[in-house]
Amino acid sequence: MLMPARIRLFTHRFSSLLPPSSSSSSSALPFSIPFRTSISHAAPPHHVSATKTPNISISDTAKFVRTVLFIPPGTDPEEVTEDMILPGSNIVLGPYAGDAKVKEVQFIGSSIRPKDCPKDERPEFAMLGRSNVGKSSLINSLVRKKEVALTSKKPGKTQLINHFLVNRSWYLVDLPGYGFANAPESARMDWSSFTKGYFLNRETLVSILLLVDASVPPQKIDLDCANWLGRNNMPMTIVFTKCDKVKNSKGKRPDENIKNFQELIKENYKIHPPWIMTSSATGLGRDELLLHMSQLRNYWDN
Ligand code: GDP
Repeated sequence: MLMPARIRLFTHRFSSLLPPSSSSSSSALPFSIPFRTSISHAAPPHHVSATKTPNISISDTAKFVRTVLFIPPGTDPEEVTEDMILPGSNIVLGPYAGDAKVKEVQFIGSSIRPKDCPKDERPEFAMLGRSNVGKSSLINSLVRKKEVALTSKKPGKTQLINHFLVNRSWYLVDLPGYGFANAPESARMDWSSFTKGYFLNRETLVSILLLVDASVPPQKIDLDCANWLGRNNMPMTIVFTKCDKVKNSKGKRPDENIKNFQELIKENYKIHPPWIMTSSATGLGRDELLLHMSQLRNYWDN
């Protein structure tokens, strides 16, 4: 019997992304997107030839779309096709995407307490991550300006909430890094007391960008942070950094670390959060992350 055309197309297009078999242990992991292809940017996922995935049912496909991919507002899950997925991510690009170019950025100021932050109702994205995760590098990469992230690295500014106004219309917020590696316990940033108040009370927060270093195995402090954000239903995107760092003999590759990280946090999320691979060294994921932010922002603006 012939399948309806749309369903056939749908099944075919997702076949290279689906778990190989529903009985294997890896099938429990919802992350079968071809990472290596994405890392090298050699070809977007829709150029990857379909792997052998016999007996993929429509319900598997529908489940995959609903449980693994991030479907943005305004997008019908039934209409999603593979070329709508941003390379190196689980993010579907929907109708709200656009205006992703950064034309102008201004440092607005630093706030000691969440209640001191700007009150002009512009949408904002807050960047959070362990010290040394590559937050300053990513901010520089996103706005293409070195001096921006230097501002937040100045002594005294690292424990503050730093607001950068982009294109005079939205904020990129640099939150204090947590878990300074060599600091004594007492001197470590207690992100929970400092930042939780900001997350819970900041009405203009469109999404938290949680930065996680993909070149190392999942770290407890990052897992704790991601789990807290998930349990509290915070709008968030996991931004994996340093995805260019491919280990040779020892250690796991970024794609394995990413898969393990997500496996370890998934029970704390009702809906799988959007995630994306980036590298400030190569520019991987920069434009894609900006596009993702644009669709969240434009929806928020409406
Ligand atoms: P921050 O403390 O989170 O602001 O981290 P930085 O941006 O200062 O980066 C910490 C270190 O990681 C620096 O040595 C950076 O050069 C390095 N780093 C940052 N991003 C990348 C990346 O994408 N790839 C690689 N290979 N190294 C990076």
